[in-house]
Amino acid sequence: MLPWLNLGLPRTTSPAQTNHALNLSSYLARLVASGQATSRSELARVTGLARSTVSEHLLPLLRIGLIAEHEAEAGARGRPPSVLTLNPQAGVILAADIGAAKGRLAIADFGQHFIVERSIQTDVARGPDTVLAEVRTAFLQMLAERQIDARNVRLIVVGLPAPVDFASGMPVRPPIMPGWDNYPVPASFQQEFSAPVLVDNDVNLMALGEARCRPATQCPLLYVKASTGIGCGIVTHDGQLHRGADGAAGDIGHVRVPGHEEPCRCGAYGCIEAFASYGAILRKVGGDVGGDPGEAQLSALVRTAAGEIGEVIAMLVHFFNPAVIVLGGRMTQFGDEMLAGVRSVVYRRALPLATRKLSVELSTLGNRAGIIGAVVLGVEHVLSPQGLRSMMPTTE
Ligand SMILES: [Zn+2]
Repeated sequence: MLPWLNLGLPRTTSPAQTNHALNLSSYLARLVASGQATSRSELARVTGLARSTVSEHLLPLLRIGLIAEHEAEAGARGRPPSVLTLNPQAGVILAADIGAAKGRLAIADFGQHFIVERSIQTDVARGPDTVLAEVRTAFLQMLAERQIDARNVRLIVVGLPAPVDFASGMPVRPPIMPGWDNYPVPASFQQEFSAPVLVDNDVNLMALGEARCRPATQCPLLYVKASTGIGCGIVTHDGQLHRGADGAAGDIGHVRVPGHEEPCRCGAYGCIEAFASYGAILRKVGGDVGGDPGEAQLSALVRTAAGEIGEVIAMLVHFFNPAVIVLGGRMTQFGDEMLAGVRSVVYRRALPLATRKLSVELSTLGNRAGIIGAVVLGVEHVLSPQGLRSMMPTTE
């Protein structure tokens, strides 16, 4: 039912470089979580650390219950070895993927298993106070239904259809979201929850989700979402999200295309999303034909728009040389037209060296990519040094 998700492999900073105690604990936790080492002796072998050092840095993880140790099945002879596993019951993550009109909420455990998931209506134009209050209420209901104590929530991850300053968790001048500019999203959860809150751009989360459901060799990866707007999430060669200096990396919807003068909601003219997004296509058929477009007409328009989006993607291919381009968003409901339109332009335009191994594919996760990416980001954060610090008791 729910797709199996591979945890991202730990960042492979060598143990010699990770001299901080929490960095070492985080390294061990990720090795266990990703199944690369499931006993103390394997951890010592994989890391090259002394067994005593492994035990020392494993201790805090066992203490907070993040890692569990239990005896394996007894072998033919001798003492059975102890097996280390990530303890999925160590807490839960609340994830919200808030779109312009619709959203998804989920509760997941640390093993990336979805405990409950539901869709909600989210009209972001109604402002952050209203929308986030509804999200909090829905989370409390979901927790109550599953009889999960709110104190077990270890992290909250929120995706927004806006550029986001990831460090502060604040949206930055979103063009279609009145009242959201610099709104302190994390603080709005403080009344009900004591857990830290991560806020990210929705397309970033989709890119991360898509990247983690594929082999690591499919990075660098670009996820291009074509819906009401057009955006791109960037996953680097080593599997990390690239957000840019201000969180605006991949905001390709406002790339200006020569020969176009259509007004864009951002205030400029000739932006790609002003004439090639799904929103623009719907405006076109609504305006030109008087609504109720036929499937064939929509398909033809999507095919043309896909070619125009392909021109921008071809530029990205030159610049970034991705291994995979994943297409997502509402325009992919016309999967064949979308794929054919983008592919034909990208393979014709981009240089052979950049397209030799490039594959252009439709999203495998569909409209769940964002919520899955939110859970992935959450679990990886829990296992990070920063995440571990927030789970440690403050007084020792
Ligand atoms: Zn624009």
